[in-house]
Amino acid sequence: MVLTGGNHGDEYEGPIALMKLSRALDAKDINGQVIIIPALNYPAVLAGCRVSPIDGVNMNRAFPGKRDGTVSSMIAHFVHQKILPLADAVLDIHSGGKTMMFSPFACYHRIPDAAVMEKAKKAVLAFAAPVSLELVELDAEGMIDTAVEDMGKIFIGCELGGGGTTTTGTVSIAETGIRNLLAHFEIISEQPRSLEERGLPATRLMHMPDSDCYVISDDDGIYEALVDLNSSINIDDAIGQVHFPEKPERPPVVYRAARAGSLIGRTHKALVESGDFLALIAAEM
Ligand SMILES: [Zn+2]
Repeated sequence: MVLTGGNHGDEYEGPIALMKLSRALDAKDINGQVIIIPALNYPAVLAGCRVSPIDGVNMNRAFPGKRDGTVSSMIAHFVHQKILPLADAVLDIHSGGKTMMFSPFACYHRIPDAAVMEKAKKAVLAFAAPVSLELVELDAEGMIDTAVEDMGKIFIGCELGGGGTTTTGTVSIAETGIRNLLAHFEIISEQPRSLEERGLPATRLMHMPDSDCYVISDDDGIYEALVDLNSSINIDDAIGQVHFPEKPERPPVVYRAARAGSLIGRTHKALVESGDFLALIAAEM
């Protein structure tokens, strides 16, 4: 199994949990092989930025990479050529970074290969995040996710919080989830620890099937969220509004939900720009 964090350099649950895991795991207890990359985009992690400060490249748009490209593209190429072929399954740990905040979830993609998708779904359930999400990516080109899935391997993703920091809760979800996956794939001889046996509510099975799940800004201005994370949403509910400080007399533009569900992500920015994600809505399955 390959475990990656720091794909985006301002998301910290992955690097923290994976550095801890690398010190805690004993090679003699491992059945198979575990490859741990706590800081996939190392220059970005050192700089605390989403993208590399060297070439400005988003690592999760750099796959499959280029041997003689910029540094991010070369890292992606090395991982694609030398690391991913060794794996049966890959976990890539994300959070919202400085710009987004998520209700913690683990996810798998809706992919054409039903057998691999079922294995990814089972792995996501073993991870045991508060939400288990089936996702259709709006733009899957260049992602490590897509590279792994194109190789016919199991990909598990997660988004565990955000705001450019961590909480005890989000780090704990990462640590437990990683061990649960290693146990699920019988790489370590433990049983996955379910939410129920830890006295927590069962995971919520949700999905984001189409572009109606994404509320995207058409405006530049100050964002006022009108609903909080995990709120249940009805179709046409006001999600938030953008104010215009240059024209205080102008009424704000209200953004409404195109579908019903639950608010699973929101912008962490107050000053938003056209094209920014304002909110993400997931529906119960
Ligand atoms: Zn990320």
